[in-house]
Amino acid sequence: MAKRDYYEVLGIAKNATEDEIKKAYRKIALQNHPDTHPNDKDAEERFKEASEAYEVLSDPKKRSAYDQFGFSGVNGFQGGAAGNYSNVYRDFSDIFGGAGGFEDIFSSFFGGGSRRRQYSTGEPGATLSYDMVLDFKEAVFGCKKEIAFAHNVTCPSCNGQGGTGRHTCPTCGGTGRQLQGSGFFQISTTCRTCGGRGTVIDNPCASCHGTGVTSKKEKLMVTIQPGVDNGTQLCLRGKGDAGRDGGPSGDLIINISVRPDRYFRRDGSDIYIQIPISIAQASLGATVNVPTVDGVNTPVSVNPGTQSGEMLRLRGKGVPSMRTGKRGDMYVRFIVDIPKRLSLKARSLMKDLAAELRETDTPEPMEFRS
Ligand SMILES: [Zn+2]
Ligand SMILES: [Zn+2]
Repeated sequence: MAKRDYYEVLGIAKNATEDEIKKAYRKIALQNHPDTHPNDKDAEERFKEASEAYEVLSDPKKRSAYDQFGFSGVNGFQGGAAGNYSNVYRDFSDIFGGAGGFEDIFSSFFGGGSRRRQYSTGEPGATLSYDMVLDFKEAVFGCKKEIAFAHNVTCPSCNGQGGTGRHTCPTCGGTGRQLQGSGFFQISTTCRTCGGRGTVIDNPCASCHGTGVTSKKEKLMVTIQPGVDNGTQLCLRGKGDAGRDGGPSGDLIINISVRPDRYFRRDGSDIYIQIPISIAQASLGATVNVPTVDGVNTPVSVNPGTQSGEMLRLRGKGVPSMRTGKRGDMYVRFIVDIPKRLSLKARSLMKDLAAELRETDTPEPMEFRS
């Protein structure tokens, strides 16, 4: 089934504000939430579809990637945003006003009965970023790249528990907050004893020192699709830091930059190249072989009377669009190459030519075009 446009899914305009996005999603989510529509496949689909759309459009980075490149800009490599549900629930508490807010709304609307998500207490893992540099042609045609990076994973020694003997923090009594100062000047800060978790451990795990996560080096083969460009961001779902206490993993964002090519320049899906031609070729016309990004030369006709700077378009020789896969065009810009040194014979021929062309020492100025 073809995916629907995210804006269409939420029924909002392309320029919708954050607030409008939130409202539109909230409405659809409330009407179709699985907790209130058990065994209703259509509602579940609508809910998933809207959640996916909201997850992308509510994140400015993902939204701009989607606006530029469509689904391919945000899908990453894990089978699309719908593949990982955890973030959806994380965002849920955001839009319904803090942990438990969603349940509260449901209780009042439908008389309770909604289950609490295991994520509501967990701390989500951090989103990590990785800078990747590609050669010009790797970006045009796509490639596979192995990346090596370190991220936090659930500690294998303690299975993320952080050790044994976990109990309520005596300093803050489990709130994770501590009051400092006195009288009117009391302020609430994160509890120093437990770091805000609300619990402490008698026997911290030796591997992770009680944090429940350990750093792990990892290698991943990443498929870069054709058409990526400077500034493209790819999202590897769940490949960021592991969450704590059952919280969802963060994503790994790959920031792409592209090395410039010596001869090719790129503007979106179009490629530009400059080709020098002689005065004779420009005047008489000629066929010249022009290199393309595909690595083969293509014969190109220079029309008689070609002016310096004139451009010629070669359809379909540009960069594949990330959205459609269709290739852009290549523009060949001819530059008439005026010789700096002339042989005796060339000089004499040139003088004859000047006489034949009846050159004037009072040229009429040219009009500007466009
Ligand atoms: Zn551990
Ligand atoms: Zn504490």
